[in-house]
Amino acid sequence: MEFYASLTINRCHLIKLTQIWAQYHPGQDFPFRRAIISPLFARNGVLEMLYQQRKRCKVMFDSGGFHVQQGRITLASASRRLRKLYSENAWANRFVLPDTPVVSGDSKDKVAQKLRSTRRQYRSFPAGFPESVRRRLLPVVHGTTSQEIGSSLEVAQFVGSQGLGFGGFATSGPNSGVNSFTPNTLRLLSVFSSFCEQKRLRTHIFGIGGPASIAVLNYAHVHTFDSAGWIRAAAYGNAYLPFVGALNVTGSSNSHRFVSRAEFSRLRKWTGHKCLFCQDHGVLMESWRHRALHNYSTLSQAVQDLKHTPVSVALERLHVFNPRFARYLQLILDERARLAATPTN
Ligand SMILES: [Zn+2]
Repeated sequence: MEFYASLTINRCHLIKLTQIWAQYHPGQDFPFRRAIISPLFARNGVLEMLYQQRKRCKVMFDSGGFHVQQGRITLASASRRLRKLYSENAWANRFVLPDTPVVSGDSKDKVAQKLRSTRRQYRSFPAGFPESVRRRLLPVVHGTTSQEIGSSLEVAQFVGSQGLGFGGFATSGPNSGVNSFTPNTLRLLSVFSSFCEQKRLRTHIFGIGGPASIAVLNYAHVHTFDSAGWIRAAAYGNAYLPFVGALNVTGSSNSHRFVSRAEFSRLRKWTGHKCLFCQDHGVLMESWRHRALHNYSTLSQAVQDLKHTPVSVALERLHVFNPRFARYLQLILDERARLAATPTN
């Protein structure tokens, strides 16, 4: 499994982050190996920076579905502009198809209408793109029931891409902008990933990527995921630790548990986390950029470590550090076993 870091941030922030990274890692002038960006809403100059780094950093273009969902742009207009942008920037690694995300609280009729318009994109958007780009298109599969996911999967295959993306997580928070696991959405993810496994399609998960979540995704036939959580958490004063999740280190968050310097240091040792950005706790408290780079390093290391972690060990560690996510992982394992045992036609 690999991580695409969201870089929909100001150019000056990106430059500053890369400078701090280089101070700690001489000779490395760009931290990110994979990045996701919304080209329709990219800040000035960020796209150019990523183009310069294209040999080192694989870039995924996001469709800006969140903005369609917010009514800031229509699906038709997004589709027209993305078609042009993708044709002009065929150097990128993956191209997300335009979609209308379903959000928690949508009525049944609203869901059906959104799914229909996203499915129309599966058929119309790829037309005219050369095979080389078409294979790299990434349709997003939405749905609130396994039947809806199943129907979307059937149509999404018409795109002819080498992979499919899952956008079916529950949404919450301001403007429904935060995705999270629920038992129902994990069952839908199992349906999605089992289908892709059978069809030998690669899988991408949109907008999920905390340290506890990825310990679940890693065992669900997920190849790639993207997240802005590492930078968002840093802005709210939170620092990641593997398997644990986000902990508040500044005393300024009311959504995450505050941990003292001594407790953070104890947890850091216990989880085996090491990076250069959290060695000085004072700096970690004072600088959101150091927290962001620590969070990014935590995820990058965790992704590598999970490749060699047997599922029994991951379950054990989640039981210790984050029991709710241990239940989520067990649910995924049970669902995948149940689906594997169910005959398909
Ligand atoms: Zn660290």
